[in-house]
Amino acid sequence: MLAPMTLHTPAPDSLWRALLAASPGAGAAVSTGVPLARDLEVEVAVIGAGYSGLAAAYALQKRGVECVVLDANPVGWGASGRNGGVVSSKFRLSFPTIDKLHGLDTAKRMHRLAHEGVRVVETLVDEFQLARARFEHTGSLRCAHTEAAFAAIRAEADWVRTNLGDTSMTVQSRAAIEHETGSKGFVGGVLSADAGTILPLEYVRGLARGLTLRGVPIYELTPVQQMQRASGETRVTLRTPGGTVRAKQVIVATNAYSDLTAATSAYQRELVPFRSAMIATERLPAELDARLMIERRSYTETRRMMKWFRKVDGRMLFGGRDAFGKEGQTTGFDALQRAMVALFPDLADVRVDYRWSGYVGMTFNSLPHVGRSDDATTFCLGYNGAGVAMASLLGQHAAALALGETPELSLLGAPGLRPVPFHSLRAPGVRLVAAWYQFLDAVGA
Ligand SMILES: Cc1cc2nc3c(=O)[nH]c(=O)nc-3n(C[C@H](O)[C@H](O)[C@H](O)COP(=O)(O)OP(=O)(O)OC[C@H]3O[C@@H](n4cnc5c(N)ncnc54)[C@H](O)[C@@H]3O)c2cc1C
Repeated sequence: MLAPMTLHTPAPDSLWRALLAASPGAGAAVSTGVPLARDLEVEVAVIGAGYSGLAAAYALQKRGVECVVLDANPVGWGASGRNGGVVSSKFRLSFPTIDKLHGLDTAKRMHRLAHEGVRVVETLVDEFQLARARFEHTGSLRCAHTEAAFAAIRAEADWVRTNLGDTSMTVQSRAAIEHETGSKGFVGGVLSADAGTILPLEYVRGLARGLTLRGVPIYELTPVQQMQRASGETRVTLRTPGGTVRAKQVIVATNAYSDLTAATSAYQRELVPFRSAMIATERLPAELDARLMIERRSYTETRRMMKWFRKVDGRMLFGGRDAFGKEGQTTGFDALQRAMVALFPDLADVRVDYRWSGYVGMTFNSLPHVGRSDDATTFCLGYNGAGVAMASLLGQHAAALALGETPELSLLGAPGLRPVPFHSLRAPGVRLVAAWYQFLDAVGA
């Protein structure tokens, strides 16, 4: 049975959709596929047409392996078409923490993987000629909201320089942060030079367009309702409303939307889905545009309930986790606007034109997971809100795993599905943790 409700709900009215509709050649980019309406036999079937699924299809196509991509919705309907477009080279778990828990050698491997993600985005943008996705390698600035937070991120930058030889992180003074962002709300910051920004929906649609041109079939509006392998069968059968796909290998790339149908809902139990919301203002008056965020980077702050911001076409984009709201609800947008005005009082009278949200997939160990759930099924998920670069990389590694290769995964390699303990309590649990974090942020702890 299909889980109703969430299937085929239109993607939210985001700034990304407006930009896509207005961009030259938009017609070709809006829809790349059609629903599956026949039975197919392929080597590998990929479920999900976000960055993960399309990156997997890219790696398969490169190796000359016949594959098909199936998505319940139009390409980029999930988080890949809704996110902030921050291309980052980090995990939620910091490198010093990884060192403490797993040793320096592992921290070095994880550091390499994190930066490889950014290289992969650069390569894909270049190879598929995705100029419209406007990837800019401008860096990402982490802004500290207290002296204690500043000391902590300074120590992290020092540690990364000394132990990993990474000189791309530099400490910025309070005055430099105020000059660059236009906000007096920070006491200092750390700039990570190996990061950037992109238009997320253009990126995912561009990948799909490029793969289609290379002969990879992408079927949209094609929910996989059942995934079965009869005993003694070598192929897995995927049932969709318009036809079945029989595949030797399946890659599940459905991330925080895995519960759209029962066929993929087991993968949702690896995750705690967390609603993440964004707002985009009207175009700022010229004087403000010239003064705020003058380096066109992405910006994050150090509060536990972190907010992030960037500017696109003279509009301020402001995002944050909203554990209390459900997707489609308006809860959280007003709080986001208040947080934006608290950091940028000049924006008090600026109109908000777009409000949207989506789910990010958080994992219990704060790291993405790539692995095999059985000998015919591979999965990659759980980017903890930092999946633009990482999903572009790990989708490719999932494809390699499905073909029996052994890519370097370090801590990201999962031995199988490991459901989050007490998964049914995740919603109240998330609310409790978020409330505690909000309290700590409010008292400046
Ligand atoms: C509001 C928001 C802001 C974010 N900001 C950033 C950011 O600035 N930087 C960053 O790096 N990351 C960010 N992220 C996270 C990032 O967007 C995700 O990690 C990434 O897009 C995950 O890609 P994906 O391909 O794995 O999943 P998705 O893009 O979510 O794709 C999953 C697809 O699977 C399909 N699907 C699910 N079940 C089925 C089924 N049974 N049959 C067929 N299809 C199915 C869905 O329709 C969906 O299209 C943000 C996320 C959100 C929601």
